[in-house]
Amino acid sequence: MVKWFAGRVLMLGLAGCLVGPLLGQQAAWTVKPEWVRAHEEFLASDVMQGRGSATRDEQITATYVASEFMAYGLKTAPGMSGYIQSAEVVAPVLDGHGTLTVGGVELKEGPDFEVLVSPGASVSGPLLRVKAADAKKVSGTKGAVILLTDVPAGSNAMSVMRELRRSGAVAVVVQEDDATRGMFTMFGGKTRVSIRLKDAPESRGGVTIVTVGAASMAKLAGMKDGATVALALQALPQAKPRETYNAIGYLEGTDPSSGTILLTAHLDHLGVGKPVNGDAIFNGANDDAAGTTAVLELAHALGAGPRLKRNVLFVCYGSEEAGELGSTYFGEHPPVSLKSLVANLEFEMIGAQDPKMPKGVLLLTGWDRSNLGPTLKAHGALLGPDPYPEQHFFERSDNYALALKGVVAHTAAGWGTVPTYHQPDDDLAHLDLPFMTAAIQSLVAPIEWLADSDFRPEWNPGGQPKR
Ligand SMILES: [Zn+2]
Repeated sequence: MVKWFAGRVLMLGLAGCLVGPLLGQQAAWTVKPEWVRAHEEFLASDVMQGRGSATRDEQITATYVASEFMAYGLKTAPGMSGYIQSAEVVAPVLDGHGTLTVGGVELKEGPDFEVLVSPGASVSGPLLRVKAADAKKVSGTKGAVILLTDVPAGSNAMSVMRELRRSGAVAVVVQEDDATRGMFTMFGGKTRVSIRLKDAPESRGGVTIVTVGAASMAKLAGMKDGATVALALQALPQAKPRETYNAIGYLEGTDPSSGTILLTAHLDHLGVGKPVNGDAIFNGANDDAAGTTAVLELAHALGAGPRLKRNVLFVCYGSEEAGELGSTYFGEHPPVSLKSLVANLEFEMIGAQDPKMPKGVLLLTGWDRSNLGPTLKAHGALLGPDPYPEQHFFERSDNYALALKGVVAHTAAGWGTVPTYHQPDDDLAHLDLPFMTAAIQSLVAPIEWLADSDFRPEWNPGGQPKR
């Protein structure tokens, strides 16, 4: 076996003379492509049925990650007796016979309207009529029920609704179109009820979306702003409890009081859905088996290396796709204090190179929000600013749950808007394994540096998100 010496260790210059400091003397770690491929072969295989949030498939995935953590010499986190943290989740099943009341008008679910998306409970609030062209600028709508009175040409109700979801309204009512009908069919002709943590009713993804037919829209359009809108929904009795699973491994530092570095990804994906070109399994090879693989191989590298000053916590979360439930639960029940978490790096979709980024470079979401990205870059990490600020990627992964709690937390990702995103062809065949292997490799030394240093990243002024 050939030993490689590089980086901050022992460097041989072109002339064969010694350059660079003689620090540590340990061999640099090489991430082997076959290790990367092996994780993906398991995680993204059809056998795993798309690793649906809070399912048995997710539990099997967490068990795999935990076993690998053990093999790499990681210990259980402080206070934990095993490598898996589970949390009960609730996903009500609705009876499909809701009513929507506005002023004197009562509409019936089925003939008059459909509930596309719901957190599984009744909602009510004052009516606020909004034109599609104003969707981007609606504000002060917390608690309101927004009625979208028109859809402009070239747009559709779904895309306008995405803007409105960010407004803080409890519900959005739109006139049905081909896009909403297609979505309803994709959900199996019934309401998509979001999963939430049993003990955290505030978990995200809670807006209700209602679609109405043309006749119902004509009735609603005549109502005045401020009129009370009440959507009454009935849940069927809950079946047996469901759980979601976080896999957690721990490396204790030589100075445990110097803080903990948190390295994360999400192990779940979308499960099985409506077939596209005959393929119904959403393998999630890139989203986020790739990030899970990064966490595993960083655990492999750091577990084999010399002990570092700080502790390192490796976590692969469940139920990210259902609204970052695993990371939210972890943030509420961390095995070490949140104050001791020096930094969190989440890895997402590192299986494809972004054409907007320099070759080999990962994007880091929220680059300007803290000094973490620039500092890691200065220490050799192939990271750069996220070129898609309009996509709000910083808020769209597990780092956000920790950032809301004050931890300097970002997500490193490959191609932010990859064509296979949330499609059944996000599979092994569409992964750029050499890029992925090099990306993981590039992070080993900078993360070792971070875990061995006194540098404590800080939010830039205004950079820390507030709920
Ligand atoms: Zn993801």
